[in-house]
Amino acid sequence: MIEGGTSGLGFSQLTLSVSGSVSLLCQRCLTPCTFDIASESILILAKDDAHADEIEAMQDDDTIDVIVGSKALDLVALIEDEALLAMPLSAKHEVCPDVAALDALNGVKKSSPFDVLKRLS
Ligand SMILES: [Zn+2]
Repeated sequence: MIEGGTSGLGFSQLTLSVSGSVSLLCQRCLTPCTFDIASESILILAKDDAHADEIEAMQDDDTIDVIVGSKALDLVALIEDEALLAMPLSAKHEVCPDVAALDALNGVKKSSPFDVLKRLS
């Protein structure tokens, strides 16, 4: 989602928010793992490179990016970048839900039926 607006210093700015769920493979148990991502960033649009430098010098907020509007604005690419940044570098469940169950299943398959019966009794 993109919202246009004006920054406190009077420059044109875009607020870029990305949110949603992505499905990635967990690096530990290799089952799909859903992540919620939510990210918001503010871009100030500058007329040209000199203007961009000027704006950067004027505002001391590192979380705000200044981009040159005329190189503009591949918004799809901006959103993709934003989404990629919001994604975890290495996808892992906090607690892998299926590993214990899978181990148990594998264990049962390897065992003879008698062993399983013994274990159950
Ligand atoms: Zn996992």
